[in-house]
Amino acid sequence: MTLASFLSYIESWSRASTVLAPFYEKLKHRHRRQHRKKGSRMLWDLTVDALLKLGGGNSTAKVKKQTQSPICFAIGLGDFKTVSGLPSLHTAFVGYFIKKVRRLGHLVIGINEYNTSQKCPRCLNQLSQLTWRWKRCDSCDVHLHRDVASGQCMAAIAKSVIETGNRPKVFIRPPHPPPSPTPSPQE
Ligand SMILES: [Zn+2]
Repeated sequence: MTLASFLSYIESWSRASTVLAPFYEKLKHRHRRQHRKKGSRMLWDLTVDALLKLGGGNSTAKVKKQTQSPICFAIGLGDFKTVSGLPSLHTAFVGYFIKKVRRLGHLVIGINEYNTSQKCPRCLNQLSQLTWRWKRCDSCDVHLHRDVASGQCMAAIAKSVIETGNRPKVFIRPPHPPPSPTPSPQE
């Protein structure tokens, strides 16, 4: 994702509030609750559309009718639960997003997030921790936000899986070591 496309994604979020404001203003207070669900759905649709536009698509055109290739979305498999154990808004949106984009003919790959916030997406060396959210790669001499590094590593994993069928070695969780044998009692 380039900085320009990221900024355009953020801009579409602000546009979403402009679209939703007149919708809410039309409703009387007692009707707002009934329509909150509809409002959320509109916001989700705008977000799906903005994400599709990052890859050059849109939410109305099916892949077979487009001249471009399908877009590949890599989504982290980390699950977010609320304190009550119900799926979080994030998890609910991801489910909605996957259904929508698959119906249009795009590809969605679930990525196990193992080590994605620990390695540099450019050179795959270990990152050092600066603060809770910021990391540093000494080899590349760059500072990276944890979530940005993680997103770029997930994109690298998706690319590698498509091209070679495997994740890069640094993102493969090592197998659990075999349990150490119990020492036999001394005779
Ligand atoms: Zn690096």
